[in-house]
Amino acid sequence: MDLFKKCHDFTRADDIKALGLYPYFRAIEANEGPVVQIEGKKVVMAGSNNYLGLTAHPKVKEASLNAIKKYGTGCSGSRYLTGTLDLHIELESRLAKFFGTEAVLLYSTGYQTAQGIIPTLVQGKGEYVVSDKDNHACIVAGQVMAKGLTANLERYKHNDMADLERVLSKLPIDSPKLIVSDGVFSTGGEIVDLPKLVELAKKYNARTLIDDAHSVGVIGKGGRGTASEFNLEKEVDLTMGTFSKTFASLGGFVAGEERVINYLKHHSSALIFSASPTPASVAAALAALNILEEEPWRVEKLIKNANKMRTELAAAGFTIIDGRTAIVPVIVGNDELAFAMWRKLYDAGVFVNVFISPGVPQGRQMMRTSYMSSHEDEHLDFIINAFKTVGKEIGLI
Ligand code: PMP
Repeated sequence: MDLFKKCHDFTRADDIKALGLYPYFRAIEANEGPVVQIEGKKVVMAGSNNYLGLTAHPKVKEASLNAIKKYGTGCSGSRYLTGTLDLHIELESRLAKFFGTEAVLLYSTGYQTAQGIIPTLVQGKGEYVVSDKDNHACIVAGQVMAKGLTANLERYKHNDMADLERVLSKLPIDSPKLIVSDGVFSTGGEIVDLPKLVELAKKYNARTLIDDAHSVGVIGKGGRGTASEFNLEKEVDLTMGTFSKTFASLGGFVAGEERVINYLKHHSSALIFSASPTPASVAAALAALNILEEEPWRVEKLIKNANKMRTELAAAGFTIIDGRTAIVPVIVGNDELAFAMWRKLYDAGVFVNVFISPGVPQGRQMMRTSYMSSHEDEHLDFIINAFKTVGKEIGLI
């Protein structure tokens, strides 16, 4: 049998395209933030992770341009060899200060960060990764690699601390363990039960890694993320994150104890064998960090915007996953309805993300909406009105 048979037989995307309902890979031709242009038409963006609206900020753009002028367009080497710039070191030390940790290490993407940390720290026969079932795909990739290197993988029910304890209590108490969880879950937007998670980590002799991709700039003091949200900065061992959301750029980072960061620097293959983040990306993230520190009102406005959407979408009769982050999922319940709703919203001038099965379980198909501090009430009202009209048309409300 030909290896490519599965590719030739895969027609689901073509079938959806033929119906005019395909929502993916739509090219954005211009991006002002809350409003983007697609197929020559302006649409209100309700699905971006550009949480603080900084991708269009003049200071962020200028910092990127200046970095290109000074350092060129790429680093052409890994951090380990010829790819370390003074800019990388400056961003690492600024982030360490921001999070109040001993050290920070940059990776080239957030995805690579999880893949770089997990199998580097957990790889021996008697070692365990203990992971939430709804963790992000990059954590899953890291786990799979750890398992391939002879470590053990245990998964617990989504954000269910009783189930985490059930799993931990079966493992040898003195075995090395890493509990991994999204801080804010990327699909549902829920916040991890961190107080209980760190309590269990202590009780069962485990280290912790929290993925704050959707937490930084969103929750915690001044947007400092999940540990800060619960005053548990000293209890979380490692916090990782991305520059592709609040930081308006591209890249990833891990923050923690200096000896652990030093170990990752010298053993993590995703770091050592991949080129370092570009000067423009690092400079943009640095400029975004400055703005995050100087203008905490952006975090407050982001949450105010998301809360307004939660309240008004629920009041209109939609089933939403409640929460207090920037992510507001509207449950639709099946794939066909999800594609149809996406198309109608798009035609009404609103762009959202569609999550279908098997990406989400059957019945949890959703319009995953997310908000930015740069949304004004006029944008939000426009989105709500479009949802109401479309929701009634397809019989969802
Ligand atoms: N972790 C989580 C929870 C995410 O949602 C994402 C991106 N969607 C990543 C990591 C990966 O980040 P990046 O885009 O920098 O690869």
